[in-house]
Amino acid sequence: MAEILKGKPVADAMKEELTKKVEALKARGIVPKLGIVRVGARPDDLFYEGGAKKTCKAIGMESEVFEYPEDIDQAAFEKAITEVGSKKDINGILMFSPLPKHIDERKIRTLIPVEKDVDCLTLGGAAKVFTDDPTGFPPCTPTACMDMIHHYGIAVKGKRCVVVGRSLVVGKPLAMLLLREHGTVTICHSRTENLPDVCKEAEILVAAVGRAKMIKANYVREGQIVIDVGINADPDNPGKYCGDVDFAEVEPIVERISPVPAGVGSVTTSVLCKHTIMACEMQNA
Ligand code: NDP
Repeated sequence: MAEILKGKPVADAMKEELTKKVEALKARGIVPKLGIVRVGARPDDLFYEGGAKKTCKAIGMESEVFEYPEDIDQAAFEKAITEVGSKKDINGILMFSPLPKHIDERKIRTLIPVEKDVDCLTLGGAAKVFTDDPTGFPPCTPTACMDMIHHYGIAVKGKRCVVVGRSLVVGKPLAMLLLREHGTVTICHSRTENLPDVCKEAEILVAAVGRAKMIKANYVREGQIVIDVGINADPDNPGKYCGDVDFAEVEPIVERISPVPAGVGSVTTSVLCKHTIMACEMQNA
């Protein structure tokens, strides 16, 4: 039976540390604040927003939601995001993506100040991540994976790491973060040949695919550590969600595995707060 790498202990430890940092900032008369920019009201966005607000409150920092109608036009939204970006009391900005199709999202992203880009939405933010600049903030999900890895004392140096998925929001930045810690990293995608065999070579296997239960018993072997980033509707349990890993098949084989739910996803809002507090500290250095 594998050791289950739960997200809650990681988030709890992080929150404890962040609470102290917020107290230290407050003693200097500074209250870190996250600005949440949302266009429309998608249920997934609202769910994440609720979690983010709750985590901010729990650690003593502030948050403010800037909500815009689905039919806001480009010019009005450019003006709005510029205004949010220039607010002195907002240290970090989370903007839900994708934006409605009539909005030029690339242009909008350029209007977010890089120093407030706590979820890596800007090219400047991505450049910092890909050049190992410690003042840059990688997206929250890959950072949450790394925080899980650190919390559970998993050594990355010299290890064969396989990341399945090459999106800009998870796979690619996660590969960079593993590389930064001297992992030997392979990035897989939909055109990778012999994917099960490549996955079997991993010592640390991360699934960020967006396909329910795709990683089956034939993708894994004994001794592996498996991190499951996926959040998918569970085809076998309507109304529930599941990961990219078939937990029932894989868990009996590998050494350690993160579950879905209650794994990586439980850590992301704490990372968002961590990044906002770091941004606040840098803006007030
Ligand atoms: P994307 O759809 O943007 O990317 C999916 C990646 O998986 C692509 O690189 C794609 O390859 C690859 N892929 C798709 N099908 C296959 C296949 N059959 N074999 C190999 N590779 C494949 O998804 P995201 O990166 O945004 O998200 C990945 C997962 O992580 C999703 O389940 C999402 O819900 C979850 N997620 C979880 C978060 C959390 O907080 N835990 C936050 C963000 C996402 P190609 O590039 O060739 O198309």
